[in-house]
Amino acid sequence: MNKSVGLFWLKDDFRLKKNQALAYASKNHYKVLAFYLYKNKKFESQEAQQWWIAKSLEEFKKKLDFYNINLEIIKINSYKSFFDELFNRKDFSIYWNKTYEPDYLKFDNYLSTNFSNRNINFKIFKGNILNEIDEVKKNDGTPFKVFTPYWRNAEKIFLEKIPPNDKPISKCEKKFSFFKNLIKAENILPKKDWIKKFSEFWLPSEDRALKILKSFIKDRIENYSDARNFPNILGTSKLSPYIKHGQIHVETIWEECIKIKKKSVSKYLAEIGWREFNHALINNFPHMLKNNYSKKFDKFPWEKNLNFLSAWKKGLTGYPIVDAGMRELYTTGWMHNRVRMIVGSFLVKHLLINWKEGEKYFKNCLLDYNEANNISGWQWVAGCGADAAPYFRIFNPILQGEKFDKDGEYVKHWVPELKKVPKKFIHKPWEFKDEKILKIGKEYPFPVVIHEKAREKALKAFKKI
Ligand SMILES: Cc1cc2nc3c(=O)[nH]c(=O)nc-3n(C[C@H](O)[C@H](O)[C@H](O)COP(=O)(O)OP(=O)(O)OC[C@H]3O[C@@H](n4cnc5c(N)ncnc54)[C@H](O)[C@@H]3O)c2cc1C
Repeated sequence: MNKSVGLFWLKDDFRLKKNQALAYASKNHYKVLAFYLYKNKKFESQEAQQWWIAKSLEEFKKKLDFYNINLEIIKINSYKSFFDELFNRKDFSIYWNKTYEPDYLKFDNYLSTNFSNRNINFKIFKGNILNEIDEVKKNDGTPFKVFTPYWRNAEKIFLEKIPPNDKPISKCEKKFSFFKNLIKAENILPKKDWIKKFSEFWLPSEDRALKILKSFIKDRIENYSDARNFPNILGTSKLSPYIKHGQIHVETIWEECIKIKKKSVSKYLAEIGWREFNHALINNFPHMLKNNYSKKFDKFPWEKNLNFLSAWKKGLTGYPIVDAGMRELYTTGWMHNRVRMIVGSFLVKHLLINWKEGEKYFKNCLLDYNEANNISGWQWVAGCGADAAPYFRIFNPILQGEKFDKDGEYVKHWVPELKKVPKKFIHKPWEFKDEKILKIGKEYPFPVVIHEKAREKALKAFKKI
């Protein structure tokens, strides 16, 4: 047992199960303290994330209490200045799990050098991923750019590993304090009304994540391949915010899924595979964090139209499936994947607005926001990403609605103005001519653009690059 205190740097790993850094600290030290660094500036443009993190901190603190581990939340201006000060103290060892974003991994190198130079004991563990980024490469050592061969290799590599044993958290001797500039979890909550509704839909805790996984596997995974496309039913797991914040480890998901022999399991795990692929992409091609993965899109003639952008954000484009999706996002902090693709395509192809605007808005509103999935998701939709949907394949929002929300249930739920519109017109209400039921243009807008014309214009714009 190490006599110094053990510090656990808590990032996106609000869990006890498969939390290697925390387990190691608690096994090797009598006294352990967890700390979370809250940088206001980082979260200014991520309001939904602030809510999830504040709630997660409250829940996790209660869990850690049982193990006599204190959780301190520290307000910082910069990670670097916080750690530069910490380097001057000698009375601790420190542990954390990796976060797979280029800035974090680069910072890990800075910390490693400085802790080593000062003989401070530290250890960095694998984070919430199946394979480390460098483990999955082509035979010639270069990174994969296409999902299918990537995932074929990634699955094989993961299967060949000895399954890591889950190390339990040990009970520590007693709680103690270590840092200054502390804040309470509630101080992180943004003072915005729209955030308040999230409690009706979500409980950010590890227990809830494990419960959702269990019921998804028991009742829904069998039909996942088909059901995942329909936004009016609960066909997906809705685990994304829990995965993002590490309330559940993807290895746990994998292990529980492969226990059952159902066809849809491989489809579900392939979606976890897309998450892995996206993390590999942003680390292997970091230019895509700020720019188009495919450079030819740098010349794309995007348009700036604040009215269109505002109509899109508010769910007032006049296309019911698009508006339903945007309102679901604003109300719940989450949007169905099929609808994310539809609203994304509508923004970049019908409205010709740069995908970066959509990415920024999602970043602020999504509870599951993560750099890898959001940036890759947007570039996939815009056609400028790796293994992306070709730009010229333009979703027709009317047909998408008619195919994936046949009876208009999803639309009617999120766009109540259209509740009484008959099924035949639910995805094209401007053709419905009964003013007693719907005053189009007053109660619900006319379409901001006409699909056929917008499509033609988008294809012309694409020809320019
Ligand atoms: C424009 C756009 C932006 C997106 N932004 C994000 C984001 O910021 N954060 C995020 O987690 N996902 C993002 N996605 C991917 C996807 O929409 C969500 O992961 C999914 O809707 C989450 O719901 P679920 O947990 O029920 O998914 P399920 O279908 O149950 O899938 C299980 C898990 O697999 C992963 N996953 C599923 N679909 C995808 C996908 N297409 N790409 C990558 N991983 C996937 C997620 O971790 C998800 O929780 C985005 C997609 C698009 C088109």
